Amino acid sequence: PLTTSDLIEEHRICVCVRKRPLNKKELTVKDLDVITIPSKDVVMVHEPKQKVDLTRYLENQTFRFDYAFDESTTNEMVYRFTARPLVETIFERGMATCFAYGQTGSGKTHTMGGDFSGKNQDCSKGVYALAARDVFLMLKKPIYKKLDLQVYATFFEIYSGKVFDLLNRKAKLRVLEDGKQQVQVVGLQEREVRCTEDVLKLIEVGNSCRTSGQTSANAHSSRSHAVFQIILRRKGKMHGKFSLIDLAGNERGADTSSADRQTRLEGAEINKSLLALKECIRALGRNKPHTPFRASKLTQVLRDSFIGENSRTCMIATISPGMASCENTLNTLRYANRVK
Ligand code: ADP
Ligand code: MG
Repeated sequence: PLTTSDLIEEHRICVCVRKRPLNKKELTVKDLDVITIPSKDVVMVHEPKQKVDLTRYLENQTFRFDYAFDESTTNEMVYRFTARPLVETIFERGMATCFAYGQTGSGKTHTMGGDFSGKNQDCSKGVYALAARDVFLMLKKPIYKKLDLQVYATFFEIYSGKVFDLLNRKAKLRVLEDGKQQVQVVGLQEREVRCTEDVLKLIEVGNSCRTSGQTSANAHSSRSHAVFQIILRRKGKMHGKFSLIDLAGNERGADTSSADRQTRLEGAEINKSLLALKECIRALGRNKPHTPFRASKLTQVLRDSFIGENSRTCMIATISPGMASCENTLNTLRYANRVK
C-alpha cells in the first residue's frame, strides 16, 4: 500500500488512475474484472481471471501513471496523493486544478463530491470537502495567518458550452474576455466561507441545484462539467485559486450517431472540451507559450489556471473494472496517458 514517502512532490502535472469495485449491477450480470493494479503506479487491462470459455478477449495492456489506486483505496487516500499537495500551491500564490475524468458510472462524483447515490448523501468525504478542510487548517499556520487571507467559493456548471451558476439557481452566465486576455464569468457568485461547514453547505446547495428539474439526475450530470473553486483573497486581490472539476462522462463517441440533434451537439461539445483540456494540460507541462484555451468554454474559463509560473494540476482518471466497460476504460487510460 501507498505510504506518505511515496508522495511525488516535484511534478507540475500528476496523473493517476482510480479503479472502483465491481458494483451490484455488474455482479448480478456476472461481469468480470479485467483490471489489476500490480504495483502503486501500474494499471493492467487483461483477460478476466475466471474465463468463461477459451476465447481470447483482450491483449494484455499495461499503463504506467504517477499513481494507480485499486478498488480498496479510500477517498481520503486518493485525496492525499492528488489534490492535497496542491493546497500548498494556492497559499504560495499559485493556481491549482484537479480533474476527475472518466466514463459515466466510473466514480468521478464519488471521488470529488462524496457519494450522492440514494440516501447515502455525504459530501464531507469527497475531494471538494477534504481540500476545503485543509485550506482552513493551513490558514491557522502562523506564516499564512499573518497574511490575513479570506476564503471564497464558487460552484458552477458548464453544459453544452454554456455556464450556469449552481449557487444562484442556475443563472445563465456570460463569459467575457477583455483586451488583456483576462477571462471573466460575469456575475458568478463568490461566497465567503469561514469554515469547512460553510463549504459543505455550499456543496449541498450546488449539488441539489445541479440535479433539480432533471428527469434523470445522472443523465444530466454525465453531460456537464461541474467546477468547484476555492479562492484565496488578500485585501480583495486574488492570492490563489483551486479549481476542482467533476468532468462530463467521456463515453461520448457513440453519440455522434444519435438520431437526436441536441444529443449529437452536446456530445460534440463534450468531445471538443475534453480534447482542448488535454492540449491545455500538455502545454502547461511543456511550458509552451501558447495554450489553446479558446477551443472550448471549459478551458476558456480555466485559462488563468493553465498559464503562469506557479500552476499545477492533477488528473484522477476513474475506471470501471468490468469487461463490459473495457472499451471505455482503454479510452480513459489512453487519454490519461497522453496528458503528461
Ligand atoms: P460518475 O460520477 O463517474 O458517473 P459515480 O461517482 O456516480 O460515477 O459512481 C457510480 C456509482 O459507483 C455510485 O453509486 C458510487 O457510489 C459507486 N462508486 C464509485 N466509485 C466507487 C468506489 N471507489 N468505491 C465504492 N463505490 C464507488
Ligand atoms: Mg457523476
